[in-house]
Amino acid sequence: MSYPKIYLSSPHMGGNERKYIDEAFEQNWIAPLGPNVNGFEQDLKNYLFPGHFSSRMEKEYERNPSFRRGQGEVGEVAALSSGTAALHLALILCGVERGDEVLCQSLTFAASANPIVYLGATPVFVDSEEDTLNISPEFLEEAIKDRIQKGKKPKAIIAVHLYGMPYKVEEIHAIAEKYEIPVIEDSAEALGSSYKGRKCGTFGEFSILSFNGNKIITTSGGGALVSKDPKMKERAIFLATQARDAAPHYQHSEIGYNYRMSNICAGIGRGQMEVLDAHVAKRREMNKLYLELFSTVKEVTVLNEPENTYFCNHWLTVIKAEDGGTFKTNDLRLFLEEVNIESRPLWKPMHLQPVFKNAPFYGNGVAEAAFKNGLCLPSGSNLGEEERSRISSAILKFLQ
Ligand SMILES: *Cc1c(COP(=O)(O)O)cnc(C)c1O
Repeated sequence: MSYPKIYLSSPHMGGNERKYIDEAFEQNWIAPLGPNVNGFEQDLKNYLFPGHFSSRMEKEYERNPSFRRGQGEVGEVAALSSGTAALHLALILCGVERGDEVLCQSLTFAASANPIVYLGATPVFVDSEEDTLNISPEFLEEAIKDRIQKGKKPKAIIAVHLYGMPYKVEEIHAIAEKYEIPVIEDSAEALGSSYKGRKCGTFGEFSILSFNGNKIITTSGGGALVSKDPKMKERAIFLATQARDAAPHYQHSEIGYNYRMSNICAGIGRGQMEVLDAHVAKRREMNKLYLELFSTVKEVTVLNEPENTYFCNHWLTVIKAEDGGTFKTNDLRLFLEEVNIESRPLWKPMHLQPVFKNAPFYGNGVAEAAFKNGLCLPSGSNLGEEERSRISSAILKFLQ
């Protein structure tokens, strides 16, 4: 293997990250608080809530008031140690307790579901729909009705914008409102994506972001909780800093956590925010490349926006082969591995995971088929001409 490895998605620094870290050192803010933490939160807030809505969006809201209800124009961001921590706090803030049930998209990374179990609650998994591979409105409603009939109304819905593709925002939130169940929007993979001009990470009662090493931007490890209510941000930070009561000594009336982001990590985040949109553009170019490469292959679809109201950051480009066809994504994976190019099957659905084998599931096989026939391809914003041509020739050779 003479060529260096091409990864699915690797960290891509913009250049100014060091500047913010140096400042932290100069001022001795080497702690889980400080100017970078506040600055990063402000950067995220400005990005997610640019302050005003376009007239096109105002019209959209007039046409469909349910889209707006409960959605303020500005939200608050709390920087945390991980996306998983953000989900854990979001569930606590939704009042999830031992014995409760929480609905969760099955086709996702385990981190979407694990915090439900941290709280002693039970995940109830819901299948995907074909267009976006995200939570199916049909099975979501079926699950809600059935759980209510069985005597327990679910406490929250965790919906995921998988691989950066927005879920069916309007349908999902209309159902959530109908049954008055809060949505926790897992936007860990979708910073930079939007739906009808509105950024992913702003739709949920609570939304979460991740800045892990392989995500669209990284702080080396980190996450954020977004909420519409400033009191909820305050409460999240209270819980994330060991739940200290207001007293000169250490006094606690509640169980707390150590979930705040460090000022060093936040410095990396500030530098990354400066290049976020440029990096999204690069990932979208990678997606275009794959669209072209597979354009003549009838059995293969490159996952893409179902309508022009969707805007996907294409964190990872996903291809899906026809079930039972001659194109086997696993063969492509092994072929690419030979030339040191990484590719990976989609997330294995949670209802098929040994650890969740007793959890209820509502669906008809869409997530399972996606897992069986799907593949994620290298999509990093740092892939240059050379890497692209290596990827192209490898895929073209495989297709021959
Ligand atoms: C990465 C990820 C998370 C967890 O984020 P961490 O920062 O790694 O804890 C949650 N949900 C999804 C869908 C993710 O991809």
